[in-house]
Amino acid sequence: MLTTMSKEITEKRIQTEKPFVVYKKVSKSFGDLKVLREIDFSVYPGEKVAIIGPSGSGKTTLIRLLMTLEEPTSGVIEIDGVPLWHKEVKGKLIKADEKHLHKMRGQIGMVFQQFNLFPHMTVLRNCTEAQVKVLGVNRKDAEDRAKEMLEKVGLGTKLDNYPSQLSGGQQQRVAIARALVMRPKVMLFDEPTSALDPELVGEVLDVIREIAAEGDMAMILVTHEMEFAKDVADRIVFTDGGKIIEEGSPKEVFENPKSERLQSFLRRMR
Ligand code: ADP
Repeated sequence: MLTTMSKEITEKRIQTEKPFVVYKKVSKSFGDLKVLREIDFSVYPGEKVAIIGPSGSGKTTLIRLLMTLEEPTSGVIEIDGVPLWHKEVKGKLIKADEKHLHKMRGQIGMVFQQFNLFPHMTVLRNCTEAQVKVLGVNRKDAEDRAKEMLEKVGLGTKLDNYPSQLSGGQQQRVAIARALVMRPKVMLFDEPTSALDPELVGEVLDVIREIAAEGDMAMILVTHEMEFAKDVADRIVFTDGGKIIEEGSPKEVFENPKSERLQSFLRRMR
């Protein structure tokens, strides 16, 4: 029910608001390999977008550019109207410096396939360090916020544990809490369940579903879990060969795929 309501709100927003994230003719090559080809793509405030497509189609690269982990070969990415990889000086776009990238990064949270927790820090510490060091929050407030988010992901009793003492599903939930404490405006999930044993996938997807249902934060999810994408996303984007081939509501994309490439991808996924 909550999910349905949040989707209606999001749909209304999409009609009235400016996109929060915009890719304009973004390309990315690694040497001779063209991984993304002139991608135009937008995400609206609060919108949940799932990116699906065959392996190697550029899904992860697409979101790594937004996280500033890869630099586009050409094109412009904007967050809230401000270029990410470029800085505007006297009306001209020049390459951004690290200070600008750092500031922009503050609006984005990312959850990776391989949790990437600090192994030598407790769960609580994993969720407080960046608040203290990056946001300048005092340690007490950072811990309160961390506890609140760890509670939300169902790990309120694991504050003093180290990552190695947790299951993969629990570690991934810590990684989600660690991203949430920073109050990002957009959360990126890069195949968050692909490194997990099958029996641990559900608990992580449930947590992501719950966060999505709260509504406020935009989310971009790269996923192979089609049922989950259908459930959680307002919009599905299908990529193949470094291009967006088709996009639309889950109903449009899953029930009435137009391109042969999407049809055959969905057949293979069943
Ligand atoms: P997907 O997420 O759809 O599986 P990726 O974005 O991970 O696709 O990768 C797209 C293509 O780019 C793949 O062929 C991959 O091998 C290549 N690639 C990704 N990152 C790098 C890199 N850092 N250096 C060289 N090739 C890369």
